[in-house]
Amino acid sequence: MGYVDEIYELVVNKNPAEPEFHQAVKEVLDSLRLAVDANEAVYRREGLLERLTEPDRQFKFKVPWVDDSGKVNVNTGYRVQFNNAIGPYKGGLRLHPSVNLGIIKFLGFEQIFKNSLTGLPIGGSKGGADFDPKGKSDREILSFCTSFITELYNYIGADIDVPAGDIGVGAREIGYMFGQYKKLTHSYEGVLTGKGLSYGGSLARKEATGYGLMFLVEEMLKCAGEDIKGKVCTVSGSGNVATYAIEKAHQLGAKVVTCSDSNGWVYDPEGIDVAALKQIKEINRARLTEYAKYRPKSTYHEGRGVWSIKCDIALPCATQNEVFLDDAKTLVSNGCIVLAEGANMPTTLDAVDYLLENKVMFVPGKAANAGGVATSALEMTQNSQRLNWSFEEVESKLKQIMVNIFHNIDDAAKRYDCAGNYVVGANIAGFEKVADAMLAQGIY
Ligand code: NDP
Repeated sequence: MGYVDEIYELVVNKNPAEPEFHQAVKEVLDSLRLAVDANEAVYRREGLLERLTEPDRQFKFKVPWVDDSGKVNVNTGYRVQFNNAIGPYKGGLRLHPSVNLGIIKFLGFEQIFKNSLTGLPIGGSKGGADFDPKGKSDREILSFCTSFITELYNYIGADIDVPAGDIGVGAREIGYMFGQYKKLTHSYEGVLTGKGLSYGGSLARKEATGYGLMFLVEEMLKCAGEDIKGKVCTVSGSGNVATYAIEKAHQLGAKVVTCSDSNGWVYDPEGIDVAALKQIKEINRARLTEYAKYRPKSTYHEGRGVWSIKCDIALPCATQNEVFLDDAKTLVSNGCIVLAEGANMPTTLDAVDYLLENKVMFVPGKAANAGGVATSALEMTQNSQRLNWSFEEVESKLKQIMVNIFHNIDDAAKRYDCAGNYVVGANIAGFEKVADAMLAQGIY
């Protein structure tokens, strides 16, 4: 059995009942095969893959909080610090009832390679809790966030581990956590990113993941001799990533005709109205059923269905495992030429294989959505410098980073005779730098 297969078996045996973590490790290891085989003797002796697939440390903690009726509730919080070979740990916090250790480990593992791909000095971590923010009042969110950070603050710091937002964590939650961190530590430091603009946040951070996704797609299409202008896109999700992917797609001349939430989806043949979407989701904090009030020609459908709509470019921006093999078949038969992952691991492994076999340009999340964490790292830089850059300056740096990421993954795929396979390209390009740093720093 080869080194890669041995390690995958080890991971499955050592981490039972964590299917998302197994899936992420399988995807990464399978595509590292060529790079690992070329250096197998050294990597084996150094235990490199054993070390890479085992988090440096993981915290699981109690989060008691009081709801508006005065009742005490208890959730479970997590932080998994996976690897800091190339910089302080960095990764988002997810608040969603589905959160468990396996999901946080899958996200933390992916984060190592994503952060490496940005070209910036940041290691990989992830955290969150099984708390459901839906339907909670501001005071309940404050109570939860205060309790969550009262434990988490022990393990983080501007040069140690810098959390950010993810599903269910936006500027409001980061603000509440930052306030409590300051109180507990008596220090004002860039310990969290995604902060509000009045207290150390970066312009363009909110937009960064969605904008970055579209910058990468634009560059990839350009290199393939295609123009993004006039292309029809389907997007899933209606949160942070989805909203700003739609906004930038429209600015670049494409047309996005769908979006969704966990209850249903909207089809708007004239193009999603971003102002209406922001009003519904960011201001009213309401459901997509309201969208038709703003756009009478749109239709709302319960359940799943975004991928049934004919498109050139598919952009899953909601959550993991939301594009299945059947969806991939429909996309291919409808003439889709690009699937770029705004969300983390939204496409199942068999669907990815099908898309690659059918020559769809597929970009995995660790490359396609790296603009968010890259801009978080730019926020850390601004905090360290005690400076604020303009929107244009941050956006132009973001664009350059996304263009570089595309060329790095494209080059890595070509170096290993896998031209056009950006799964291989992204994993190898992300891995090489981390492996080099780990080998240089001894055994830890
Ligand atoms: P948000 O919480 O802002 O939005 C998430 C969206 O996805 C909502 O529309 C939500 O619908 C929907 N959704 C969440 N869970 C499910 C589910 N189980 N089934 C169906 N729909 C679901 O999160 P973000 O936009 O920040 O994150 C979206 C994805 O992008 C995640 O995979 C995240 O890890 C990834 N990502 C985010 C980055 C960022 O900067 N924010 C950076 C890189 C990756 P509903 O409102 O009904 O819950």
